Amino acid sequence: AAPYEELDPLVNRLNEQRGELVRRMAQLQDADDLRREFTANVTHELKTPIASISGAAELMRDGLVRKGDVRDFAGRIYDDAQRLSALVSDILMLSKLDESERAGDREIFGPAERVDLRSVASDVVERLGESARRAGVEVSVEGVASPVMGNARLLDELVSNLVENAIRYNPAGGRVYVWVVPQDGRPCIRVTDTGIGIPKEDQGKVFERFYRVDKGRSRDTGGTGLGLAIVKHAAAYHAAQIKLESELGKGTSVTVLFPA
Ligand code: ADP
Repeated sequence: AAPYEELDPLVNRLNEQRGELVRRMAQLQDADDLRREFTANVTHELKTPIASISGAAELMRDGLVRKGDVRDFAGRIYDDAQRLSALVSDILMLSKLDESERAGDREIFGPAERVDLRSVASDVVERLGESARRAGVEVSVEGVASPVMGNARLLDELVSNLVENAIRYNPAGGRVYVWVVPQDGRPCIRVTDTGIGIPKEDQGKVFERFYRVDKGRSRDTGGTGLGLAIVKHAAAYHAAQIKLESELGKGTSVTVLFPA
């Protein structure tokens, strides 16, 4: 038996390598499944507004829309075109974030610069002021200057998506608080709402692409289903951590904590 004992370490090593290979293949398979699922979702999300735009335009072209209904039809076409445009922007943003992660390229959005989180928050809240007023939701910003190294456009995207959701999933009379207050010396932004909340069982999934708790509400209010996926990747780009706390019927709070 003695000569074979020398083979034991070799056999063990081969077995380890085989295990590693099987694991790696399973990972690739998972990534491939995810990619397929994403493509199927994108196709579906694009087809719906395109079909409704073509349908409405066809009826108008053929003179089948009464004069009094023309405005309504044009309005529907406009809303669907807006939805397509939002979807395409979000898909492009996510694919650029994916590319930066895949290539380990931290400069894909341009060289890192000093960005003040509080200014980003104020700009976003000002820009979303009109849609908040229409929804009957009051938004306030508080905090101190909090510089982080990163990309202004991505940070704007991150904060906009959080504030948009806080307005969107909030009843009229609801409130949104944006806090920019450092935690343990680390820059931090927290968006809290008094909205509908997210059920416990969905809280782990809302950062996945196209995952929606209430499809109708998301679509009717202009949601693409990609907002929180963008938030997750934009945070990762800045090596920031995200914490979601939510209680059904009470509200939601998302905290993004940046490195010191
Ligand atoms: P959407 O465009 O649908 O808002 P997101 O990726 O931003 O997509 O969010 C995913 C889902 O998580 C939403 O459809 C919604 O069901 C839920 N959600 C996100 N933010 C909130 C919030 N502040 N309050 C309640 N539900 C939320």
